[in-house]
Amino acid sequence: MEILACPICKGSLEYIRDKNILVCRKCNIFFEIREGIPILLPDTGKPLKE
Ligand SMILES: [Zn+2]
Repeated sequence: MEILACPICKGSLEYIRDKNILVCRKCNIFFEIREGIPILLPDTGKPLKE
């Protein structure tokens, strides 16, 4: 999988295989992957729950 950047901070995203999401630890948000395509838009990020 190619390295994807957070649309907000441009930092690297971490892929969580279990949940099929991309996480930005810096922003503390995650992005869903739909049909194999990461939805990397600033307003699609959702807050991470600890
Ligand atoms: Zn970020």
